[in-house]
Amino acid sequence: MKTSFKIGSIYGIPILIHWTFLLIIPIFAWIIGSQMPLTVSVLSTTFGVPIDTTYLLPSINRYVLGAFVALGLFGGVLLHEIAHCIVAKSKGVPIHSITLLVFGGVSSMDDSSPDPRVELPMALVGPLSSLATGLLFIVLVYAVDAAVASGPLSGLLVFAFSYLGLLNVSLFAFNLLPAFPMDGGRVLRAVLAIRMPLPDATRIAASVGKAFAVVFGIIGVFLLSPILILIAFFIYIGATQESTAIKYTFLLKDVKIGDIMTSPVMAVSPYTPVREVIDLMYTTKHLGFPVTEKGRLVGMVTLADLHKVPPIDREAMQVRDIMTRDVITLPPSAPIIEALRVMSLRNIGHLPVTVDDQLVGIVTRTDILKVIELREI
Ligand SMILES: [Zn+2]
Repeated sequence: MKTSFKIGSIYGIPILIHWTFLLIIPIFAWIIGSQMPLTVSVLSTTFGVPIDTTYLLPSINRYVLGAFVALGLFGGVLLHEIAHCIVAKSKGVPIHSITLLVFGGVSSMDDSSPDPRVELPMALVGPLSSLATGLLFIVLVYAVDAAVASGPLSGLLVFAFSYLGLLNVSLFAFNLLPAFPMDGGRVLRAVLAIRMPLPDATRIAASVGKAFAVVFGIIGVFLLSPILILIAFFIYIGATQESTAIKYTFLLKDVKIGDIMTSPVMAVSPYTPVREVIDLMYTTKHLGFPVTEKGRLVGMVTLADLHKVPPIDREAMQVRDIMTRDVITLPPSAPIIEALRVMSLRNIGHLPVTVDDQLVGIVTRTDILKVIELREI
């Protein structure tokens, strides 16, 4: 399912926006707008700043101001992610994309086996930039208060800036929670990984994350807070994914596709009748076959392709009528973890192995899972 949309790119890194973030901007605009008072006192809105000026707010549409603040929050989250990217780039860690989510962003990086000395500054810089942004807005509140006499415009600025200050400082605090996939989870893992192997550090950090998720979930149910329940799910899933990914990477770290692929592989021709392919599936118990013409891979035919055509139509069809032509292949020298990554990303179970377009073998998800099970003992 496509859950994120590209909105632009920075330093060649695509910036994606998760659909939940699109939802949250109008919701925030509404919440912030509803909270806008008729007068705003600096004392009451900015962490007990000792200035007790009361500003009259002008009668503009409060939701317009809410939207402005919500967009400011969006900018704060973006800055936070860019900070991660700058440090990652300077340490030579490639970043695939940045995704903006409801309560922060996620930078997708190639950190299947991160070095704690790289991960620690990379994880810390995001929350620190949120803190800096938040403090900057608080300074702006002071500046407005010092520079402008109480008027409707300064009232507006004080309201917007104190809100953005508060939101960015909250972003700092929230992201430092020691729970995956929050930055704090990465900080915790990096600190632990200095003293112990990475899989152990990840396991501990993931358990702490799951514990946080459970606590958040319980509080969320008690307070009837859908946002808190959503965050709990997000943390739980993130922690689980991280520990599984690291475990697999570790268990499969020195396995190449060529070590476990099935070779030679049974292939079918594009002109094989579909009926025969079904019979072949029954006799061999294989649910996918590469399609070759003179040894050259031209497609894949799987159970999923068969499902796409009604049984009555299959009788007259050949493999070439139903096969998937746009097939991803990997060479035997590629790490097996790469095959697993491609399969999960594309949601496929079979990956043909080729050398110069010539089919040399096939690797399936089941094969990889068997290797994982064997390595676990
Ligand atoms: Zn971050």
